[in-house]
Amino acid sequence: MLKKGNKLYSILTGSCPRCNKESMYVDQNPYSIGHLFKMNERCSHCGLKYKMEPSFFYGAMYVSYAVGIAFAVAAFVTAFLIFKASLISTFIAIVVTMVVFMPVIIRLSRNIWINFFVKYDESAADASV
Ligand SMILES: [Zn+2]
Repeated sequence: MLKKGNKLYSILTGSCPRCNKESMYVDQNPYSIGHLFKMNERCSHCGLKYKMEPSFFYGAMYVSYAVGIAFAVAAFVTAFLIFKASLISTFIAIVVTMVVFMPVIIRLSRNIWINFFVKYDESAADASV
C-alpha cells in the first residue's frame, strides 16, 4: 500500500507530493519543535514550489481540525471503550493525546492539504533535474 505514487505515501512521509523523492521538511522529525514548520522552499528533485502562494498553508488549519478530531476519537475509543476508563480519565486521555500528537497532527494536515492540490507525476519522479 505504501508505494511511491500513492498519496498516502506522501501524506505519511511528508515527501514531495509530485515526485515523492524527498522530504518537504528541513527536519523530518516533527518532534524537533523548532523545525516543526520549516519546509524547504522547493523540491530539489522536481522543482515543485511547496508554498504555492504566501498564505497557502493557512488552509491546512481546516484540515487539522478534522485530523485532530480523528485523533480524539481514536483516544476516546481506546480509553473509554477498550480500557473501560471513567469519563474523567477518558477526557484526560484525549487531552494528553492531542498535546502529544500535536506536531504529528500539524504535519499530517499540511501533507494532506498540499496533496489536495498537487498530483503525483511519474515523469517528474523519473526526470532528474
Ligand atoms: Zn518533487
